[in-house]
Amino acid sequence: MTITNLTTTIDPNAIGEQIYSLMKELFPICRSITGNGVRETLKIIGKHIPLEIHEVPSGTEVFDWTIPKEWNIRDAYVKDSKGARVIDFKQSNLHVVSYSVPVNKKMAREELLSHIFTIPEEPELIPFRNSFYKEDWGFCIEHKRLCDLNDHEYDVCIDSTLEDGFMTFGEFFLQGRTDDEIVIFTHTCHPSLCNDNLTGISVATFLAEWVRASSRHYSYRFLFCPTTIGSITWLALNEPQLYKVKSGLILTGLGDSGGFTYKKSRKGDSMIDRTVAQVLCALGKPFEIYEFSPFGYDERQFCSPGFNLPFGCLMRTPNGKYPEYHSSGDGLGFISQKNLAESLKTCINIIESLENNRCYFNTNPKGEPQLGRRGLFRAAGRKHQPPEEQFAILWVLNLSDGFHSILDIVERSGLKLELVKRAADILITCGLLQESPDNDTSKI
Ligand code: ZN
Repeated sequence: MTITNLTTTIDPNAIGEQIYSLMKELFPICRSITGNGVRETLKIIGKHIPLEIHEVPSGTEVFDWTIPKEWNIRDAYVKDSKGARVIDFKQSNLHVVSYSVPVNKKMAREELLSHIFTIPEEPELIPFRNSFYKEDWGFCIEHKRLCDLNDHEYDVCIDSTLEDGFMTFGEFFLQGRTDDEIVIFTHTCHPSLCNDNLTGISVATFLAEWVRASSRHYSYRFLFCPTTIGSITWLALNEPQLYKVKSGLILTGLGDSGGFTYKKSRKGDSMIDRTVAQVLCALGKPFEIYEFSPFGYDERQFCSPGFNLPFGCLMRTPNGKYPEYHSSGDGLGFISQKNLAESLKTCINIIESLENNRCYFNTNPKGEPQLGRRGLFRAAGRKHQPPEEQFAILWVLNLSDGFHSILDIVERSGLKLELVKRAADILITCGLLQESPDNDTSKI
């Protein structure tokens, strides 16, 4: 219970500034699914939480996939006939297709153009492109600049390496009173892009700091991995331990100004699905809940039929539903400290609600206990006493038979989670409620 109400101690302005400042530090780094950009990123996160770093060698087989070669890049450019850099990796790492193989030659305009990507409908934005699993190379530029490439020949250089090495990911585990685990996953493979997904990385880091400082029923595992290959690798390495995972949450796109969106797990009615729905409802702001679909982020791997783990995905505006998505428009100006702080608070609310979702039993189940002599009876409608508080007490007493959790009571009564939790605390204090000995609410 000690985890309750700590959100009130968080100053939204100060925390928003801190999350934003971590993002600013991480923004210039050229990340990909492997390479030194990921290592540098994890090192910076490691200043906040003691991350365990895993290095998985290229060529390692993980289910149907193989860890690819490691990619690193030092520089890349396209020079015109006067020697001027008309496309320059040093100005934006989005200019180079991630995982581009090395190139160093003069080539005709036509050949160069066949390796250039733009977004015609967003001519001011540089697209984010990758070629992780097919050896290729390319440049990305603003569509409006295509017409400036008029020389017959260009000097093209991509100073990269694609060699046997490692795929790097970070893990932070916190033991709770039980071995049952909550997993928080965020992807670390995008270069200078903010909403997708420096917001996920930074919010997860501060969430981990908060959980670390809290008393915990559950154990928590924070995973900072490249998308797809990272989650598949972690699943392959940890298959015998997966029975411990009771809930999982993918964090991404948490800094834009849209309302929250939650994508349900494949199960659709697991504890995480029901908890997030109640938390978003209690926020009192517009939100959306999507059914599971096998497209999107790493929930696809955790929710694949061989695992079917209860993993949902929390975001604001969903991927692909904003024009800045996967482009230079998703920069530091696209997200705000206020939204980051609200996202962190919402994640904390979700964890508090999971922690507080206990089963109790009424110690006086034969007839209603006499509330009046315990100072708990309030006539409905009496001033200074909202009738919901009384209803919450009656609902908690009625459904607390050892089999119904706080979440069950919230759903059945239609009352707010906070109110039901407060009623349970009051009843515990006066001895009318006790925690059930076998309190594995994840089975409910
Ligand atoms: Zn993405």
